[in-house]
Amino acid sequence: MTHSGLNSASVGDDAGQPLSMEDVGRRTWLGDSHLLGIPRTTGFYFLDADRPAVIETSAAAVSERVIGSLRAHGVDSVAFIVVTHIHLDHAGGAGLLAQEFPEAVVVVHEEGVRHLIDPSRLQASAARVFGEEEMLAHWGRLAPVPPDRILVAADGDCLDLGDRTLEVIYSPGHAKHHIALHDSETDGVFVGDSAGIYLSDFDYQTPSAPPPDLDPELAIASLDRLLERDPEIAYFTHFGPGLPAAELITEAQDQYRRWSEVALRAFQEDGELASVARALAERADPERRELPGGIQEQLDRFTPHETAASGFIHHFERLGISPLSDGSTPPFKP
Ligand SMILES: [Zn+2]
Repeated sequence: MTHSGLNSASVGDDAGQPLSMEDVGRRTWLGDSHLLGIPRTTGFYFLDADRPAVIETSAAAVSERVIGSLRAHGVDSVAFIVVTHIHLDHAGGAGLLAQEFPEAVVVVHEEGVRHLIDPSRLQASAARVFGEEEMLAHWGRLAPVPPDRILVAADGDCLDLGDRTLEVIYSPGHAKHHIALHDSETDGVFVGDSAGIYLSDFDYQTPSAPPPDLDPELAIASLDRLLERDPEIAYFTHFGPGLPAAELITEAQDQYRRWSEVALRAFQEDGELASVARALAERADPERRELPGGIQEQLDRFTPHETAASGFIHHFERLGISPLSDGSTPPFKP
């Protein structure tokens, strides 16, 4: 097997090592992309079916591992490559996976289509945030998806896998191009980032609240729509299946409310990103400090409180909220 599209100069030494996929029940497998060298934090799923599906691709930098893991699992054909949204840790590898499985269509919400066809803007904005070198090392070089390979997913659409179906649930809030998928076979919902990050190994959950799209009220409303399906299992991209789904989705809603309140108060006190990040760490997310040291460090690298602080501040500013200097009543109730 060759991976002709991969830029081997951009990936770390072990970035290509395939990892065995974990059987999470009912013809569903979880893969670990080991993104940023962090184990069991960023995943992708393989759904066995007449027309098999891969949900999430992880980043381009680890595509060799993702592809190798699927091949080692015996996957020789994929009908659907589904991305819940176009953030690089979910869809960065879509172009390379599409090259590897030329029979597959890539399923994405319409708000994300143009970025998959022409990833140059995504690539450039990542380079602005991380710097060119680090961006290539950690996230990789994106390959475009040919327009005729894209299947635009809208709310209520059903992907027919033959002996199981995936129903698309539009779920903005974390990102405007976010979809979740309800699976008929497992009565599970693939939540992407809509219900945050849940490390099942540690029963630890935290919102994923980056700029520029973050809208906590919209995210809470989207989660209500997932709860309407009364799913049994929530399949988190970060990382693994969680039970019972309703409890984890409700907790995600509570966390959005709590984090919004803490962020708003800190923002109104002095408007500084560092203050908001510190408030989130101390008052909204004390559970993180109870995790084993190495896990805390990995989380602080993977999802730093500064990113969430920036997401909330961006949201407050969009609502016209500014830091208070006179102690007057906040104009916004999260
Ligand atoms: Zn995301």
